[in-house]
Amino acid sequence: MIILNRQREVRIPCAACSAKGQITLGDGEEVPCPRCWNDGYKREWEPTCWRFETCGTVGKVSHSAVIDEKGETTSSTDYMIDATGIGSGSVWSEDKVWTDDTWKDECDRLNAEIEEEQQ
Ligand SMILES: [Zn+2]
Repeated sequence: MIILNRQREVRIPCAACSAKGQITLGDGEEVPCPRCWNDGYKREWEPTCWRFETCGTVGKVSHSAVIDEKGETTSSTDYMIDATGIGSGSVWSEDKVWTDDTWKDECDRLNAEIEEEQQ
């Protein structure tokens, strides 16, 4: 089973150009802001709610490990399931995949966190 978050786009005014989308060079020329690409805003995604997404049989598991310059290893495991495509399809990280009903508790916990953040 897989849980997934719904996300909302959040527009954050660009600090580099004061949300104008353009910056003024020393000689007075106005050019598109290199930080926000003329948009005036930076876009981020924030979760709005966690919910059950789909259920399927795992068909492919991939492990990856990255060793950083301090010699510390970060590893991750990803799954592909028959319901969303194996080989080409969605890749689900281990923290979003459940094999039993405890996903409900995790969904509730994550949604409670979002509610707390919004207060
Ligand atoms: Zn900008």
